[in-house]
Amino acid sequence: MELHELTIRQAHELLVGREISSVDLTAAVLARIRAVEDRVKAYIHVSADSALASAAEADRRRAAGEDHPLLGIPLAIKDVIVTQGIPTTCGSKMLQGFMPPYDSMVVSRLRRAGAVILGKTNTDEFAMGSTTENSRFHTTHNPWDLSRVPGGSSGGSAAAVASDECIGSLGSDTGGSIRQPAGFCGVAGLKPTYGRVSRNGLVAFASSLDQIGPICKQVADCAMLFETIAGYDSKDSTSVDLPVPDCLGGIADGVRGLRLGVPKEYFVDGMQPEVNQAIQKALKVWESLGAEIVEVSMPHTEYCLSVYYLLATAEASANLARFDGIRYGYSDHHAESLWDGYTASRTEGFGAEVKRRIMLGTYALSAGYYDAYYLKAQKVRTLIKQDYDRALEQCDALITPTSPTTAYGIGEKVNDPLEMYLSDIYTLSLNLAGLCGIAIPCGFAAGLPIGLQIQGNAFAEAEIMRVAYAYEQATEWHLAHPTL
Ligand code: GLN
Repeated sequence: MELHELTIRQAHELLVGREISSVDLTAAVLARIRAVEDRVKAYIHVSADSALASAAEADRRRAAGEDHPLLGIPLAIKDVIVTQGIPTTCGSKMLQGFMPPYDSMVVSRLRRAGAVILGKTNTDEFAMGSTTENSRFHTTHNPWDLSRVPGGSSGGSAAAVASDECIGSLGSDTGGSIRQPAGFCGVAGLKPTYGRVSRNGLVAFASSLDQIGPICKQVADCAMLFETIAGYDSKDSTSVDLPVPDCLGGIADGVRGLRLGVPKEYFVDGMQPEVNQAIQKALKVWESLGAEIVEVSMPHTEYCLSVYYLLATAEASANLARFDGIRYGYSDHHAESLWDGYTASRTEGFGAEVKRRIMLGTYALSAGYYDAYYLKAQKVRTLIKQDYDRALEQCDALITPTSPTTAYGIGEKVNDPLEMYLSDIYTLSLNLAGLCGIAIPCGFAAGLPIGLQIQGNAFAEAEIMRVAYAYEQATEWHLAHPTL
């Protein structure tokens, strides 16, 4: 096995045993990036020099007797998470050239643990999209088939993991942006419970839905990364002050006696038949491991998409108001008046999808329409949360696909926003309810990975990772590698 192919857990063991150094590992991953990045295009920015310097520092810390599961591990960070001294663009012209003066809380926790930051991964502009095609810089390619999308918006992170251009990564998930690309790229992606991971330094898209989480080669790696970034932070007022569980400790405890729920409303027309077949087979695997499969009902599922696209756009329109070319962001210096300056800067700085969402959100919030759209959506959001409460009284976790299909072609849906929004149908309800979920690979259709999602209760990350790990270890999908 080559060094760039290692998981976090394997690399950590070799580092502890002094069989490799972090400089060796980091140099190997940087060589891999040089070899395949022109085809995959997972990164917006690679910071090779600072990565090698942090690797050398990690080796010094280890020589001095320190240890941490992430000490010396090279990681990729989605470009909506701010990094001191490494440009952060959110995939937007609006922030091109922006050098953050501080680290986000998650990145400062990673640095404290001694992780090596390789660079920033591609994303749909301000995390709005499902393919990375909305990035203002370039589209990322799916390592399993370069003519297809990697999913999004954390498509750069998922593609970097799948192509071994990093050992692990961070993404963000507002409506599925960790789980959907993990599914499309055949890797593992965890969306933590809302409030579990600090949003300090995550550029806001929809503040009541956004969460940062790991995208990794395997479930245990997600646990290691999650444990490092999770936990209370006074700088995020929605951060929850609860102890972070030892997820890795109980990860191999198995699923005997657990009840896994299958929401009947999720299995509808429009799902690719191979996706359905793969999920049914996965349920049999859990059954053989001692879990009980039960059918549950989530009657408000059909409203999730409308509610999400009302609330997410409303919050986005408010959050993105700060990018006016004066306080923040790209600035048009030719305008003759203040208002012309705002208009010119925002017209030029934002791409089409971001503008579409600002307009939709502004409309939903405007006087006269507020009650009909925003307020009503908030009420239905409560009903959706109640669906989860009732379903999770009958079972320990829910099993669903991550997406109705495998990865589609680049350019296939980009001109049909509604069709694109539909690809998030299985992931966004979880953000509306504020709960946690993990995507893992569960098969292939015509050479493309199929994703499976395990949804769990608030703060049940350890439990869903246990369910995921049991399946992962009983199957071999996580060991498959694309040929590049
Ligand atoms: N694809 C969804 C959207 O476009 C979700 C994005 C996300 O989770 N950041 O809004």
